[in-house]
Amino acid sequence: MIRLSGVGKRFDDDTVAVQDLDLEVLAGEMVVLVGPSGCGKSTTLKMINRLVEPTTGTIEIDGQDVTTADPVKLRRGIGYVIQQIGLFPHQRIVTNVMTVPLLYGESKAHARARAVELLELVGLDPERYADRFPHQLSGGQRQRVGVARALAADPPVLLMDEPFGAVDPIVRVRLQEEFLRLQRELGKTVVMVTHDIDEAVKMGDRVAVFAEGGRLAQYGTPAELLGEPADEFVADFVGSEK
Ligand code: ATP
Ligand code: MG
Repeated sequence: MIRLSGVGKRFDDDTVAVQDLDLEVLAGEMVVLVGPSGCGKSTTLKMINRLVEPTTGTIEIDGQDVTTADPVKLRRGIGYVIQQIGLFPHQRIVTNVMTVPLLYGESKAHARARAVELLELVGLDPERYADRFPHQLSGGQRQRVGVARALAADPPVLLMDEPFGAVDPIVRVRLQEEFLRLQRELGKTVVMVTHDIDEAVKMGDRVAVFAEGGRLAQYGTPAELLGEPADEFVADFVGSEK
């Protein structure tokens, strides 16, 4: 379980990115953070894997305080799909996926076999794609590689920042559905960010709606958000009446 209590982030230039955030993500749960641009979604994800230090509050994963955890060990248990994909442009696809297990000292042969397996899992035929470079793939295919790479170390927790952005709507729907199936199969705990409320409602077991200034406006199941929006902002955002 991931637990954020009273978490806030104020950057050096006094930008308040996140305010007094309480959020609990159960093991195996898929939680989606949604909200307009600049409301602190990416910052929240980055605080969970300690790429950003919170100014206030505590973050625990399975009872362990993230701020006192060894960052290398911590990140080993957390896959991270970054906004804008971030594949290594000069490495072949299979090497991109192998990078993380290699970092953790796995043998080359084992890491490669695992990478090939993962490419298959995310729907990329390894025979065709393993030895290509990122620029030789479509946007949707690159997104799949990003997901495969995040799964490479078999982390129990997966953080995904707009993983299905930057692809056309048809590919996006296919990726969403495939990922949902994958998540059910693998039972990962997932925190995913999107600015698309339809995607959030479709994919999340629970959805956290962020508002301006990094305030959590509501956290609940899709049915709760749609049926009982907490305020006018949420009602507008989910497109229901209040
Ligand atoms: P988007 O949907 O556009 O990706 P977001 O919800 O992910 O937005 P964040 O990236 O978390 O938003 O940023 C939240 C706020 O913090 C923004 O106002 C942003 O400008 C600010 N911010 C983010 N990183 C930094 C930083 N390193 N230094 C100062 N301000 C920052
Ligand atoms: Mg962001």
